[in-house]
Order: sequence, then structure tokens, then C-alpha cells
Amino acid sequence: MDKKIHTLPELPYAYDALAPFISKEIMELHHSKHHAAYIKNLNDALGKHPELFEKTVEDLLKDLDVVPEDIRMAVKNNGGGHVNHSMFWETMSPKGGGELTGVLAEEITKTFGSFEDFKAKFNDAGAKRFGSGWVWLVRTKEGKLNVLSTANQDNPMSEGHFPIMGNDVWEHAYYLQYKNVRADYLKAWWNVVNWQAVEKRFNNI
Ligand code: MN
Repeated sequence: MDKKIHTLPELPYAYDALAPFISKEIMELHHSKHHAAYIKNLNDALGKHPELFEKTVEDLLKDLDVVPEDIRMAVKNNGGGHVNHSMFWETMSPKGGGELTGVLAEEITKTFGSFEDFKAKFNDAGAKRFGSGWVWLVRTKEGKLNVLSTANQDNPMSEGHFPIMGNDVWEHAYYLQYKNVRADYLKAWWNVVNWQAVEKRFNNI
């Protein structure tokens, strides 16, 4: 059973690699404390129903109704926290930013009007999320691209949508550097988006 216990993935870059857009202090706390805590709490919850270690966290989030009620909220929050942050680290890079090209870029332009319109819509949805949450580009269950935001660590998978990319708008993601100005963080974040990793997710839906 032990080998199935969920573990903290290593960052694919150093804690200071995304500076000046995201500081070393934020990255270190965010990964080694916040993400680690979601994983510990997820493992603690699943420990009450250890047969669930056999399933991927994604599968649990896609069908929360099959998770026993006594741990359902813990799995939603902490399983979501684990999956969301694992995606987040992978879809950022010190060599990120720039313009997206290719099939996803074409579909974004077709759906939102232009790449700039897409970014504006994404930033707006992230700014308007009241309290803690995430802003996402998803492939909806109807097969369309859409921008949406979720509260807490809720993952779009639980509503049948596939998350192509997402930005964390919890205060822990930006407050130490951007203070109360979430909009500045949302703008700066595009400089570290790893479009190759985003496209890979899009192509693997
Ligand atoms: Mn976070």
C-alpha cells in the first residue's frame, strides 16, 4: 500500500527560477508548504478508505460521488489541491511566455476573437473570483474552449470539463510579492506560462 501514497512532485526548476515574476519566497512556501500540506491531508483522508489509493486522484475528482461521504470534502479540497498544483508547476517555466502558435492558438483565436481577447477574459475571470480559487482555460464537456473560475481547490474535472491550463488566485500565490493587487500578478503570470506544456495537455485530452 505504501507505494501508492501520494507524494510531492519535484519542481521542474529551482525555486528562484520564475523571478522576477514569481519570487523565490512565494515558490518555496507554495510548493514545500502549501502543496505538501494538501498531499498530507489527502493521504490522511484516503487512509480511512485505503482501497482508494488504487485510484488516481483525477479519477476520484471526476466522480466524487463514489468517494465515501466522510472523506468526500477532504478529497475534493486536498485532492484538488494536489492535482491543481501539480499541473500549475508543469505549465510554468523560466523560459515561458511569448506567443502561442499552432492548433490551440488557432482555436483560441476562433473562440475568443484574438489571443489578447483570451488573455483579457482570463485575467478578468481571475480578478473577479471572490476569495480563493483558480481561473482556467478548459475544454468543456460539450467540446468547446471556455474560460471559467472555480472556488477553493475545486477542479473543473468534477464538472466534466478538462483543465488545459489554470492560474492560482489564492492569496498565497501572490500576496508576499504583489500584496493586494491580484491584477498585477495575473498580468505578470503570462511571462512564465510554458506553452509547450499547455499544448501537450491540450493534445492529450
Ligand atoms: Mn496554491
